Amino acid sequence: MNAARLLELLEATATLPTAPFHEGRVIAHAKGWAADEGLTTRRDSYGNIAIDSVAGEAPVVVFAAHMDHPGFEISDVSGALTEAKWMGGVEPDYFPGAKVKVFSDPPTTGVCVKTELQAERRRVDKMFLDLEGEVKVGDSGSWNVPEWHLDGALVHTRAADDLAGCAAVLGAVTVLAAEGIPTCGLLTRAEEVGFVGALGAMRADTVPAGTPILAIEASKAVGRVRQGDGPVVRIGDKSGVFDAGLCRFLGDVAESIRDRHADFQWQRALMDGGTCEATPYSLFGRPSAGIALPLDNYHNRSDDGRRLAAETIHVGDFFGCVVLMVEAARQLADPDAAGPGKSLSAYRRSLVSNAREGLERLEGDALTS
Ligand SMILES: [Zn+2]
Repeated sequence: MNAARLLELLEATATLPTAPFHEGRVIAHAKGWAADEGLTTRRDSYGNIAIDSVAGEAPVVVFAAHMDHPGFEISDVSGALTEAKWMGGVEPDYFPGAKVKVFSDPPTTGVCVKTELQAERRRVDKMFLDLEGEVKVGDSGSWNVPEWHLDGALVHTRAADDLAGCAAVLGAVTVLAAEGIPTCGLLTRAEEVGFVGALGAMRADTVPAGTPILAIEASKAVGRVRQGDGPVVRIGDKSGVFDAGLCRFLGDVAESIRDRHADFQWQRALMDGGTCEATPYSLFGRPSAGIALPLDNYHNRSDDGRRLAAETIHVGDFFGCVVLMVEAARQLADPDAAGPGKSLSAYRRSLVSNAREGLERLEGDALTS
């Protein structure tokens, strides 16, 4: 798949309306894409979508991304202001006067006039909206920020977290299907309200228990991570660290790509700007790690104050992410290539071999003292 087609896939995916529990349009898009590419999709009892690159064969790796983004659900249309239930991590200060868009038929826009907070936590529970058009209970919505704007290599889009991850999964699984490498793309629901879809996918055994899971997520660029410096091998998040063998393996894969393509860039970091699905997968004993797309304006919160904005990611990081995913799957499928276990044991051997002289010296010291 060439870069132009991948970019088209990113645009077609990232511009879809979505909110927790309201992932229907992303699901339809993923199923449509898979059907066009001749890929098999499965839907589990929680509505998560699994896309198998080779039907009936055990995947060598699962690429997971979530289909939702912070948003709201209309709960009462009887008053002068429309009431909505907010879902997702955005501080209360951003809400008053914020522009919103309801994904009604036809879509309508408006402003958030006031909010009601949850009693126990300083989080928004209800929003009261002044809307231009008609909506009905159950309609979903989110912030009214630019849906797609390409500024040089920077994509400005509402829900890079995690529709860009979904696009990367669709792209990688499609490439790997053409190569006959069995992988699974797992697109989950309701991540923003506590990993609900991911937990359901484990309960339903949507993907085989022992298979490595890589969470593909656009995640706030923190520390030394820079947009444009390549995809991030994510060794952990705000809540914990990921599988050591998988993390080292991903780094080895990235280096092997750079050996062949000097312009390939990648980064390694613990991205503690948020928690990603690799954490619940790890907690339930699944070997997991992550690949992150460095994100700015995380959850549409601009860095320059209490303003809402489109999220941004770098196109080069997105392409690099797909390249890294594809190469990781190729190496996992190749019995002669290194895998997570071999990457760790090779590193262990190199440590011992580098320390040989020092070890002998210490042993000598211990004998003479
Ligand atoms: Zn998020």
